[in-house]
Amino acid sequence: MPKMRFEALLESRKREHIKMEETGKRSDLFGRNVFNEDKMLQFLTKEAFENVKSAIFQGNKIDRKIADQVAEGMKAWALSMGATHYTHWFQPLTGATAEKHDAFFDIMSDGKAMEKFGGAQLVQQEPDASSFPSGGIRNTFEARGYTAWDPTSPAFIYKTTLCIPTIFVAYTGEALDNKAPLLRALYAIDQAATDVAQYFDKNVRKVYATLGWEQEYFLVDKALVQSRLDLVMAGRTLVGSLAAKGQQLDDHYFGVIPPRVLSFMSDLEKQCTKLGIPVKTRHNEVAPNQFELAPVFEEANLSVDHNLLLMDVMEEVADKHNFRVLFHEKPFEGINGSGKHNNWSLATDTGVNLLSPGTTPMKNLQFLTFFVNTIKAVDTYEELLRSSIASASNDHRLGANEAPPSILSIFIGKQLSDVLDELEGVSKGKLSPEEKTELKLNVVGKIPEILLDNTDRNRTSPFAFTGNKFEMRGVGSKTNCAKPMTILNTIMAKQLTDFKKEVDALIDKKNLKKDEAVFNVLREYIKTSKRIRFEGDGYGEEWQLEARRRKLSNNKNTPQALQVITSKESVALFKDMGVMNEVELKAHQEVELGAYIFHIQIEGRVLGEMVYSHIVPAAIRYQNTLLENVSGLKEVYGAAHKKVAEPQLNILEQVGEHIVEIKKLTDEMTEARKRANGLSTAQKKAEAYCDNVKPYFDAIREQSDKLEKLIADDLWPFTKYSELLFAK
Ligand code: ADP
Ligand code: MG
Repeated sequence: MPKMRFEALLESRKREHIKMEETGKRSDLFGRNVFNEDKMLQFLTKEAFENVKSAIFQGNKIDRKIADQVAEGMKAWALSMGATHYTHWFQPLTGATAEKHDAFFDIMSDGKAMEKFGGAQLVQQEPDASSFPSGGIRNTFEARGYTAWDPTSPAFIYKTTLCIPTIFVAYTGEALDNKAPLLRALYAIDQAATDVAQYFDKNVRKVYATLGWEQEYFLVDKALVQSRLDLVMAGRTLVGSLAAKGQQLDDHYFGVIPPRVLSFMSDLEKQCTKLGIPVKTRHNEVAPNQFELAPVFEEANLSVDHNLLLMDVMEEVADKHNFRVLFHEKPFEGINGSGKHNNWSLATDTGVNLLSPGTTPMKNLQFLTFFVNTIKAVDTYEELLRSSIASASNDHRLGANEAPPSILSIFIGKQLSDVLDELEGVSKGKLSPEEKTELKLNVVGKIPEILLDNTDRNRTSPFAFTGNKFEMRGVGSKTNCAKPMTILNTIMAKQLTDFKKEVDALIDKKNLKKDEAVFNVLREYIKTSKRIRFEGDGYGEEWQLEARRRKLSNNKNTPQALQVITSKESVALFKDMGVMNEVELKAHQEVELGAYIFHIQIEGRVLGEMVYSHIVPAAIRYQNTLLENVSGLKEVYGAAHKKVAEPQLNILEQVGEHIVEIKKLTDEMTEARKRANGLSTAQKKAEAYCDNVKPYFDAIREQSDKLEKLIADDLWPFTKYSELLFAK
């Protein structure tokens, strides 16, 4: 008897939901555990406060004396909140977050105990870096790395620990994390976009990238998850026959949220609110047990931190409610996977969304400038942008028969397509007064302020304009948003820098007026970036062929997609924008490849164990039951038993065939893994895992799923899809 499965089922059925009291207004709780401006005003000296503010706004350095003052204030606040420890909170290249807790408590040289935390502890820490991936950086250069305070993301208290957001770099300065490159990219976009925004408004001093993510996830009972080796070890089901009822009925989407889930959500939202994560919407998703949570958008660096923190908090709160959160992009076959749409825009310190159409022709020209430049940037660097969302788990969505596809394209809607078509016809060089008036009145002037309804119709384009922002939809639910945000802001910074040069050249050398110059450059961009624009849904063979004709990249798997990171063009781009040097790019690529290999390797091992230790033994047990039955029938019926035993004999034969087949495939997969492990470079290994090992997974699964349908239910070892997905 498969004990695990049935015990888990019993346990999950007995669950009651933890009642949550909805106390008070959310706004009273908001940011309670964050060292935000209010707390700074209260706990910092005026000098320290102003220094931190200018570090946030202008990127100024904070000197040691001030750091000591900030640390003093932070400590006083943290202790008043009951915190006992502090930690530097960082994002190693593994994709998750890491922390190393130290107690405030210390014994002084005179033997007295006190709570200690100074500027030195705030500014820099040396975690034991050897256990984090570095893609070879630390071997080649320095053995050690350190974490350094990022004052642009406020410290917060999680449980009883003061968490200080930090970057993680090698002693030689190379980034060992995802945050340092992001901060550099955000600096680059600020410089480039501010310069361009000043064409339209001289008062702009800073441009922020904004990010609003939408986190999708599955929620499954804790005991049920624990009963499945694959979910525990690999985060997804490697075998499992489809439930009779899947998502065909679409009845889950926007349906009633089950009470146990609602308790979890309300608890989660309360925790998030205290941590200053502005969560706002919650609803069911398409698949059973799938949900989504979205915040109000924020400055990109903070938003990335908040998403990572949210994922940690979710795991914690889910555990309390006896759930497990599945962040994997494709935990269940045949059912929609999970993504994390990244809504992105640029905002000025004067409060203007640069991707929002306005009320005047000038505002609209500004909008068009940033809009067309985004299209141009994505067109030039589509393959690089695709690489930023590549991972073993996201491969199940991108390039599979699930939107969005692995080909990047941009959807802008009919209204804006028409505007761009008109702009394409603008004369070269100086514009006649009539043409200017025509443009102002009938082209630029006609862009309505609100485009939302018109542009939101396409739900599956990988990069869609949704009225006042672009929405990058291929990002995986598990992915650290820092990766796509680093690339998107870097390519946009480069594009805007080029744009400024071209416009200035036309103004200086061709004597054009500013708006004429802008129109001239935009016209060329519209012409040369047409191939990236696609209004269809991206499904099917036709678009694949069309995309090939347009010379758009179509990298269907991670080892392929990652190659572009170290191309000559990419290296030049990142160097130009000051975001990453070649060593860092190589290291990041190496780490991503390593993660890919590791991921597929684990899945292969787990699948092997499931087959040899559980599936085949269960099949043999059932075989024995059938054999016993048939020989019993033979004893009773003699030669006549053949007729009564026919169904049994038929099943017996099928079970036997599947056992032979699944054993053969699993042996072959193990051999393929051994061969892949023997290869010399990470690229070759990753390719071998992708091309020679991974294909066995589906073949093995097919055999297993057939056995699952044949074998008596009480013998089947793994919790079934119908049990995993519909238990409430
Ligand atoms: P949908 O599910 O239709 O895509 P949602 O309302 O769930 O829409 O998500 C929209 C997301 O876009 C939210 O996270 C929101 O905060 C974000 N967003 C809105 N405006 C901006 C902006 N200017 N910059 C970045 N993100 C934005
Ligand atoms: Mg969305």
